[in-house]
Amino acid sequence: MTFTHGMRNTPIYNVWRNMRQRCLNPNHPRYADYGGRGITVCDRWHDSFETFHADVGDMPAGMTLDRIDNDGNYESSNVRWATRADQNRNQRPRNPKTCTVLGCDKKHEAHGLCHTHYYRWYRAQRAENQGA
Ligand SMILES: [Zn+2]
Repeated sequence: MTFTHGMRNTPIYNVWRNMRQRCLNPNHPRYADYGGRGITVCDRWHDSFETFHADVGDMPAGMTLDRIDNDGNYESSNVRWATRADQNRNQRPRNPKTCTVLGCDKKHEAHGLCHTHYYRWYRAQRAENQGA
């Protein structure tokens, strides 16, 4: 495992550390909702804070790392920075021009997501509402 000394105790470092704990540490209080449900951290991010940091950047103020598909893993194609209100799906992101999923620069269609990611999100929501 690699560490960037000097990045410890920064918000983004804690995001990475907590993400791994939720998915990998059975003693973590939220493990049942993450690792216990089969949610994993992708190979790129699993052992490297530097790679994670390079992919997602610094944590924007007031934002949290949101998974588009709640049953999907922590990987760049399934995460975006979102406000708590975005995560509750009650509020549109401010002035969205492009998809808010990291690394996706397609035109935004709805909920800050491009057509592809919106339907991925929509299917996940529908499954959730059906209690699947
Ligand atoms: Zn997209």
